[in-house]
Amino acid sequence: MDQFHYVSYAQEVIFAPGSLARLREVVERFGLQRLMLCASHSMQVGGPVRSIESSLGESLVAVYDRVQPHVQDIQVEEVLALASEKKIDAVIGMGGGSPIGMAKAVGFQAHLPITAIPTTYAGSEMTPVYGITHTNENPPRKVTVSDPKIVPKLVLYDPELTLDLPPTLTASTGINALAHCIEALYSKTGNPISTAAAVDGVRHIHNALLNCYQHGEDLDARTEMLLGAHLSGLSLASVSMGLHHGLCHVLGGTANVPHGIANAIILPHAIRFNTDVTMTQLIPVAEVMGIPVNRINPMVINEALVQKIFHLIGQMNLPQRLRDADVKESDLPRLAQIAFENRTVQNNPKSITDVKQLEQLLKDAW
Ligand code: NAD
Repeated sequence: MDQFHYVSYAQEVIFAPGSLARLREVVERFGLQRLMLCASHSMQVGGPVRSIESSLGESLVAVYDRVQPHVQDIQVEEVLALASEKKIDAVIGMGGGSPIGMAKAVGFQAHLPITAIPTTYAGSEMTPVYGITHTNENPPRKVTVSDPKIVPKLVLYDPELTLDLPPTLTASTGINALAHCIEALYSKTGNPISTAAAVDGVRHIHNALLNCYQHGEDLDARTEMLLGAHLSGLSLASVSMGLHHGLCHVLGGTANVPHGIANAIILPHAIRFNTDVTMTQLIPVAEVMGIPVNRINPMVINEALVQKIFHLIGQMNLPQRLRDADVKESDLPRLAQIAFENRTVQNNPKSITDVKQLEQLLKDAW
């Protein structure tokens, strides 16, 4: 790497089992007095919302606990209205990428500082980007908004919050983290920090993900997996993603496939599609995933990596075909066309000049 250009962000990151208990102390240090929490329903049922309510006491003036997947524009309007009515001075997103995306959308539009408390491995807490789904378009379409002001100022990682993450969400959001590392490594805008974070991220994800899937209560595995997710988010924060992520956004926003499931289905196909352009960049990933790399043709290494990831996804019983995620075969040409016009897809290191290339990939994944 002899040239690079990237932006880094000022964030305070706290990572420790039990760190949720420190939220009040940090909020006081930041001088925040009227906070709003965005979460999804499972956070209310599972108890973490109650922990925040008792920790923040009267400083928590609003809770919006019904964030739906893929950050829907109508919900953003609702939360902005609530923020204005309650005169909040900061917003907290706790949960997966959806509540954190909601907190980012609201914080950005209302000029409020954002805190993120992730409970999945999606990595949104580290990035200056959110996706928002325009629900009144036909078909609905997810677009991304990027701005340095979107980056959460405070990120609090408490692995104990992930102990109850169900196996399928553990697996699917874990594969999302792996995909961030992979696309960061072959990104057109890769840099030394994103590359170092991505390789180390894959190492931790490879060590811990299957263990977390099989033994969700294992705090050591959960801690290592959340570290992998942090590094994957860090790598993602300073680079542009490519084909894989663009396709996952289209499948999420337009075909309503859960983000992690779209990742699990698409990742092996995207790596294979890119092989001729990206194979040497993925050798360090293959190496940390235990694939022999010495004196072996990079193309062979790349295919072994595809197989290894496909196998891991199968071991965790995730859907491996689009048909298993309720995508209709007749929708593939339309999805390919939307993806062809997607900016992230067009940032792919291997250029995509014909919509038929995408249609073929989607057919292979169907
Ligand atoms: P999600 O936030 O939609 O959550 C999925 C489900 O997990 C929800 O039902 C939620 O209630 C449940 N859940 C979360 N944590 C839990 C826990 N600890 N225990 C039990 N249930 C729990 O899913 P996600 O995959 O985390 O995030 C996907 C969204 O994030 C997508 O919209 C995606 O585009 C976005 N995303 C954005 C970025 C970014 O950088 N902006 C990065 C990754 C993902």
